[in-house]
Amino acid sequence: MGLKSAAILAWLATSYGVLMFAHVRPWEAALLAISAGLAMAGVGFSVMHDANHGGTSSSARTNAILSFTLDLIGASSYVWRNKHNVLHHTYTNISTLDPDLEGGGPFLRLADWQPRHAHHRYQHLYVWLLYGLFPLKWWFIDDFRDLLTGRIGDHQFPRARGRALFVALAGKALFVSWAVVLPVWLHASWGFLALWSLSVFVLGNVLAAVFQLAHCVEHTEFLEADGIERDWAEHQLATTMDFAPRNTFLAWYLGGLNFQVEHHLFPRVCHVHYPALSRIVEETCSAHGLRYRCERTLRGALGANFRWLKRLGSGDRSSR
Ligand SMILES: [Zn+2]
Repeated sequence: MGLKSAAILAWLATSYGVLMFAHVRPWEAALLAISAGLAMAGVGFSVMHDANHGGTSSSARTNAILSFTLDLIGASSYVWRNKHNVLHHTYTNISTLDPDLEGGGPFLRLADWQPRHAHHRYQHLYVWLLYGLFPLKWWFIDDFRDLLTGRIGDHQFPRARGRALFVALAGKALFVSWAVVLPVWLHASWGFLALWSLSVFVLGNVLAAVFQLAHCVEHTEFLEADGIERDWAEHQLATTMDFAPRNTFLAWYLGGLNFQVEHHLFPRVCHVHYPALSRIVEETCSAHGLRYRCERTLRGALGANFRWLKRLGSGDRSSR
């Protein structure tokens, strides 16, 4: 895990360094911008996610240092721990409580209790554009609003004060320095703005799509807040899906996020163990008559997400 974290951080640093400081041709710069976007998503999947759950190391200090990699790629790890670890992991796919279902505002209808508008009919097509913009909203609007108000949606969380607030603001300042100020200083041009936008677009699409594939698909359940009758572990099984479990490259790059069933059941276990754990979880589910949700391929999972968005956009619930 240490080697993997170092490799992904080095991938990002190299893509960024060459793009910023070397003379490259336009097509090489475009590839480097895509590479930087993919590497930032890689930091999100494989480095910061485990660390913020306390799963990278048995040392709290190591976890805290690696948690800060999320701040370095633009988003507050303090807000994330409250939003993701507490709200998303506890209230997965539950109406108004799971922040992952609320992020699309009026533009996306991700669950059938959300009001439907005419434009939702096309959401399965334009969702990719929104995904591409969502890092900007996350970095520059959502985090500041949440830190300032001490609220995530309708929920209060412990307001960041003292050291936590300093770390959050220092992270933002560092991110803006390397990702905005230095590029503008060295390369202020429309061409470089296009490269920057390409990186953000790739990052947003890869991050959002992967997090969506585990929960927002036609196979998972969505519940009203007063409709929860199962215990916690059964609820996680009902609202979460694995995908492409035998795809070695995805298992490496996605930091176990294609094994979200295992991640939701054992969030503090490091993701390198999920492939082995998945076999035990699958056997245990079948021994207890519980449904283990898994799409065998990435393509199958993308199709399940596409059909769910299309169905919700058209208001057709008949085939569910
Ligand atoms: Zn998580």
